[in-house]
Amino acid sequence: MFKKKLEIIFLFITLLSLAVLSYNWYQSHLFDSSPISDEYRELIAEKESEVLQLMQRYYGFTLDIPLIITDKLPAKSYGVTVYDSGEISIYLNKKSMRESMEYILDDVIAHEYAHALMFKRGRFEHKSDGHTAQWQKVCQDLGGSRCDRYVNHDDVIMGKMPF
Ligand SMILES: [Zn+2]
Repeated sequence: MFKKKLEIIFLFITLLSLAVLSYNWYQSHLFDSSPISDEYRELIAEKESEVLQLMQRYYGFTLDIPLIITDKLPAKSYGVTVYDSGEISIYLNKKSMRESMEYILDDVIAHEYAHALMFKRGRFEHKSDGHTAQWQKVCQDLGGSRCDRYVNHDDVIMGKMPF
């Protein structure tokens, strides 16, 4: 009788873990295969307009460039700025939004717009992948909260995106 009870408890725990596992899998699948939520879209648009207002205030112009949300960037990347024959665009990584949305809003958007502004002004320094002292100043002016010059990720692409 006691053994039977144990078996039932064990079976219950197994089923419960399976349920939790498949729920997690479903949630992450759901996020990956659907466009980002309206809430995320609004948060990004809000931050973008904040950054552009600061750009207008400190630099006297804004940039009308595409801000593209993609799931084709490597998982460890948050965003990149692309300069391709005079055209500037910014990509944000949808894959990192689930875990790091706050970081993307507080840091990444201003960080990438600072690269875009440097490109717009014809500054293409390759030193520290474009994370120069001038870039840092722009990043701070645009409201970035951690405009670290020594970021170890390569988030500037000159030329075509591979997708
Ligand atoms: Zn950067």
